[in-house]
Amino acid sequence: MATGLRADPSRVTGLPVPDPGSAPAELTQARLDEVAAQVRACARCELHQSRTQGVPGTGPASARLMAVGEAPGEKEDREGKPFVGAAGRLLTQLLEEIGLSREDIFITNVLKSRPPDNRDPLPEEVAACAPYLDAQIEIIQPQVILLLGRHALQRLVPGAPGISRAHGSVIRRGGRTYMPCYHPAAALYNGSLLSVLRQDFQKLKVHLESAPTPPPAPPPPTATEQLGLF
Ligand code: URA
Repeated sequence: MATGLRADPSRVTGLPVPDPGSAPAELTQARLDEVAAQVRACARCELHQSRTQGVPGTGPASARLMAVGEAPGEKEDREGKPFVGAAGRLLTQLLEEIGLSREDIFITNVLKSRPPDNRDPLPEEVAACAPYLDAQIEIIQPQVILLLGRHALQRLVPGAPGISRAHGSVIRRGGRTYMPCYHPAAALYNGSLLSVLRQDFQKLKVHLESAPTPPPAPPPPTATEQLGLF
């Protein structure tokens, strides 16, 4: 199946696709938690047999920035969290260099289960996992989606140029804004990519600073309003 599959997330997750911007914060978080629970119980592809656990992603439902990598590695599989190994340390550092804390960002992967020996994701695995990532994007409505490496780029912007051409650009597609960059692991293997990655994170900083901040969510109704007494 094509890696660019845009499955209807609600068909697999059973979750209603939220009306952008209208859901109260607790409801949005609850939807995200429900997707996470479904990822942990998922058996939609063979990877559920070899993984230790599913790795849904970390970060708040209110995140303005979402970062999407390839798939959990050994440490992520053990800990149940994305980007906690060497590539994750570099990601955290790059974010901090542009004044962002990873706690404020929703970090996830194309695949939510580790492929054996960290091999590349198979097209059928990408397709099986697609509804979860699609649901996370629908729920969070991030202002920018940072695509970490070629697998995230192919998955979310099918038909885009390869990562060596697309990195550092701003891609608008289907009402979303994507910024592709090299995967941090690539910079660990090839030191010359680190300065490229740093430049791309600077572009991300400029973009985030120039993009308008969405208005804060309205306060929840008071008890009397909820009861409709007046
Ligand atoms: N590489 C990824 O793409 N994702 C992780 O979670 C860790 C390493």
